[in-house]
Amino acid sequence: MRVVICGGGAIGTAIAYFHSRRGARPIVVERHEVAGSASGKSGGFLARDWCRGSELDQLARRSFDLHAELADELDNPWGYRRLETYAGHAVENGATRKAASRSWLSGSVTVTGRLGSPQTTALVEPRAFTTGLMRAAEANGGELRHGTVVGLERRPSGAVSGVVLDSGETVDGDAVVIAMGPWSILATRWLPLPAVFGYKGHSLVLRTGGSIGAEALFLEYQEENGELLTPEVFARADGTTWVCAISSTGPLPIDPAQVAADKNAHARLETMCRNISPALASAPIVARQTCFRPVTEDSLPLIGQVAGVDGAYVASGHNVWGMLNAPATGEAMAELILDSTTSHVDLGPFAPERLKTLDPVRLRGV
Ligand SMILES: Cc1cc2nc3c(=O)[nH]c(=O)nc-3n(C[C@H](O)[C@H](O)[C@H](O)COP(=O)(O)OP(=O)(O)OC[C@H]3O[C@@H](n4cnc5c(N)ncnc54)[C@H](O)[C@@H]3O)c2cc1C
Repeated sequence: MRVVICGGGAIGTAIAYFHSRRGARPIVVERHEVAGSASGKSGGFLARDWCRGSELDQLARRSFDLHAELADELDNPWGYRRLETYAGHAVENGATRKAASRSWLSGSVTVTGRLGSPQTTALVEPRAFTTGLMRAAEANGGELRHGTVVGLERRPSGAVSGVVLDSGETVDGDAVVIAMGPWSILATRWLPLPAVFGYKGHSLVLRTGGSIGAEALFLEYQEENGELLTPEVFARADGTTWVCAISSTGPLPIDPAQVAADKNAHARLETMCRNISPALASAPIVARQTCFRPVTEDSLPLIGQVAGVDGAYVASGHNVWGMLNAPATGEAMAELILDSTTSHVDLGPFAPERLKTLDPVRLRGV
């Protein structure tokens, strides 16, 4: 069974890996680079039960368990580790006479509670996770093709039989999966699908060495101008710390390689780092990153078959939990395509047809 997967983010590579484990032949077609977008630049934070009470709960719990299994099975080249997770608040240039609540934080930060323990929260380095799954899929006979998907091939019955690349080449498959993150909106020109929007985020990666333990911090931070930010700080196993804040609705460029930062966003993040932590203030910055997370109208992902089109599937719109939910999405998509059913997660709540399809006419000129 040849399965063509459009997009080499965490979702596409997880689908490829779980297909390859079953002996199928996944072919990932990637326009820019594997993990070149949100899946290489995100936080990589994982939580077992933070989706309780929502339709995502089953997917998240299954994924949390699979993350531990994958790290074991594939020798963990992505620094999977369990964490303590805290909440806190700070005001820019706020009181510094107070004793620091954690050794690496400045006195301006008040830690208000524990949000998670090593039993319930964990972290991966997202680029290594995504490229690691692609490599593992290739080792099992999967394939990576560089190219931009611009359309679908159809059989006389209307069933999808492959994709067309911008080079004019075609890649044949028994099934095609749209997993292009926020760029999945472009597939509404080929298939009856709802919109997936992109929501921009900025982050820094700092080389903190051993100065911060295995901890994550979710903050409320008030800038001097009064603006309230909700930064996240995650200390990774590779001796770097990832810090994000500053989201915006800036337009998504058609070419993933053209994603650019908002003016001053990284400078504001750097100021915040200097305020909240001496360890961050003195750490060299190794990356200033910008990326778009994929979001649907009801904030739930689209995972399943495209209604009325044989051979066409979608897995996109994972919003703030795409790194967490990649494994169970990959596993469920492999089961759906190869067995026509799923054994661990009910995909009903994620059926693409629950949302109104986007009128492709609105995308003319793209
Ligand atoms: C700042 C930030 C922090 C985040 N932190 C976390 C976190 O801590 N934990 C968590 O679980 N989630 C987090 N997320 C969410 C997570 O990163 C996303 O949900 C996830 O990366 C989406 O993966 P994806 O594979 O769907 O999309 P992407 O990573 O965007 O991959 C889509 C791929 O499709 C390719 N593509 C586009 N067009 C085409 C085409 N025409 N042909 C072929 N390929 C194409 C792109 O080049 C890209 O590689 C965060 C997101 C952001 C923005």
